Amino acid sequence: MAYDTTVLVLGGGSTGCGIARDLAMRGVEVTLVERGNLTHGTTGRMHGLLHSGGRYAVSDQASARECIDENIILRDIAGHCVEMTGGLFVQRPEDPDDYFQQKLSGCKECDIPARVLSGGEAREIEPYLAKDIKRAIEVPDGAIDPFRLCVANAIDAERHGARIETHAEVIDLLRDGDDIYGVTVRHDSGPGKRTHKTPGTTEDITAEYVVNATGAWAGQIGDMADLEVAVRPSKGVMTIMNVRQVDTVINRCRPKGDADIIVPHETTAILGTTDEEVSDPDDYPEEQWEVDMMIDTLSELVPILRDARTIRSFWGVRPLYEPPGTGTEDPTDITRDFFLLDHAERDGVTGMASIVGGKLTTYRLMAEQIADHVCAQLGHQASCATADEPLPGSENLETLETAMDDFGLRSPVARRSKQRLGSRSQEVLDTNEPNPVICNCESVTRAEIRDAIEQSGSDLNAVRIRTRASMGNCQGGFCTHQIANELADEYDEPTARAAYDELLQERWKGQRHALWGEQLSQAMLSYALHATTFNADGDVARSGTSLDFAAFDGGQSDSDGGTPGRATTDGGKRVGTRGGDR
Ligand SMILES: Cc1cc2nc3c(=O)[nH]c(=O)nc-3n(C[C@H](O)[C@H](O)[C@H](O)COP(=O)(O)OP(=O)(O)OC[C@H]3O[C@@H](n4cnc5c(N)ncnc54)[C@H](O)[C@@H]3O)c2cc1C
Repeated sequence: MAYDTTVLVLGGGSTGCGIARDLAMRGVEVTLVERGNLTHGTTGRMHGLLHSGGRYAVSDQASARECIDENIILRDIAGHCVEMTGGLFVQRPEDPDDYFQQKLSGCKECDIPARVLSGGEAREIEPYLAKDIKRAIEVPDGAIDPFRLCVANAIDAERHGARIETHAEVIDLLRDGDDIYGVTVRHDSGPGKRTHKTPGTTEDITAEYVVNATGAWAGQIGDMADLEVAVRPSKGVMTIMNVRQVDTVINRCRPKGDADIIVPHETTAILGTTDEEVSDPDDYPEEQWEVDMMIDTLSELVPILRDARTIRSFWGVRPLYEPPGTGTEDPTDITRDFFLLDHAERDGVTGMASIVGGKLTTYRLMAEQIADHVCAQLGHQASCATADEPLPGSENLETLETAMDDFGLRSPVARRSKQRLGSRSQEVLDTNEPNPVICNCESVTRAEIRDAIEQSGSDLNAVRIRTRASMGNCQGGFCTHQIANELADEYDEPTARAAYDELLQERWKGQRHALWGEQLSQAMLSYALHATTFNADGDVARSGTSLDFAAFDGGQSDSDGGTPGRATTDGGKRVGTRGGDR
């Protein structure tokens, strides 16, 4: 049989993108399908911690060892996605001493560099820690940008010949007896270049081998072929603060409990989290008490959080898995390790494997192991190169440092661009066009926005995850329309308007749980700007109805040649100065 592609990867999270890159680099023809944007699932809804392994050093040492190994590799191959903040496991007076000791020995057993600090020494590193902190263990935790990481993997996969198809939902598996040979996808509608096929159409994509990397949704894909993939999705809340109240990852050093970590991330700090099993990864309650608990409990470690400004909250669902029959009751006790389910060996169904569990920190290792498995199935001889080959943007950060100096690019804006673009900075920022800052909160310039539009078309949420534009303090209040405006050269007005709406809606979603204090004022200001001033709620240009200008300014006089009370058909350009224009 002639297949459309050799390997079909389902899911565009860190695991799927990592697999696509790994296989493509080994010379295998790959297609990846993702129902939303890249990072649409859990990868776009996590903490951003590059684990040192310290969190699992007592409870799950296999995972802890994998984490420290991958932590070292990712610093090397994905330097522009990682910020080595360092991490502290902090003990409060009421936290048990014996656990502190177990954590320390666990780190040593797993080869995680660990050093004990007194309360005073810990506060020298993090001055806002509570005064009664007893002591801390310092470990090499870091912050990682999941969006940049995922996109860099996808770009590199494409460079090696892969087809990456977003907004393409798998709605069925193609199965012939005991063999799976592809999927049916439904292409979604949406603004611009983001769809490769006609929206609303379906397409059968056949493949020699299918890899199910749909994370918390892997069970749903299994159901399509009557295969049981018993993922146990577990939700966790995360709350984003307006600034970095801490510069180091702060973990609470106690056996287990909710609200025990703060991760400094770009311009913000992310508080988390909870661990509660849910039956449907697309439908679970998002409750205000969960957000309140983050702030109340983590204020015990960093008291200023109590009065700080929250900009949004979001929930993610862990793709936890444990082998059948394990029966762990509490989701916090389920292993964070990953599993490769070979359906031929397990269920007698050939042509497909699922990869479940794991963490973002171990995505590359997961990809390596499944790519080894796939190559063995295909009889393809090629070894993994992803532990050594830097991702696009991380090729040569030292040369970049020198170039930034040569260009005099040491302003805060240039520094932030450099952090995001890595070794691509020069290529993107070297422009003859004016390059104003479009997103002030995150210091994103027009050149960066245009580069992202070139990559991802008019899908502004795809632009957002590439640049962080609209992800700062104002949550898009002051820049959404400016970002949409950058589409004007290439796209028609309805496309730009639809893209603007989509981005606004996405930004609003997470703010609903942060509407108090200063953030409430910010949200009201955004509302006033977009709904009232820009008339985003009832824009006549979109509805096709005409506007009664007379209701505002008395209308045009007959001598102007216009009809009073009717909208002019000048394409929106001003024709003169009348009352109200000042
Ligand atoms: C609250 C929380 C905090 C976390 N914090 C951290 C952390 O700090 N550090 C860390 O290392 N890990 C962390 N994790 C774990 C980590 O985020 C996940 O393990 C990882 O992102 C999973 O990636 P994935 O690619 O396997 O799954 P996903 O990112 O969920 O990707 C699966 C993709 O499949 C797509 N899909 C689903 N159904 C279909 C379909 N029918 N057709 C096409 N596509 C489909 C989804 O849209 C999704 O994009 C956290 C998880 C949670 C929930």
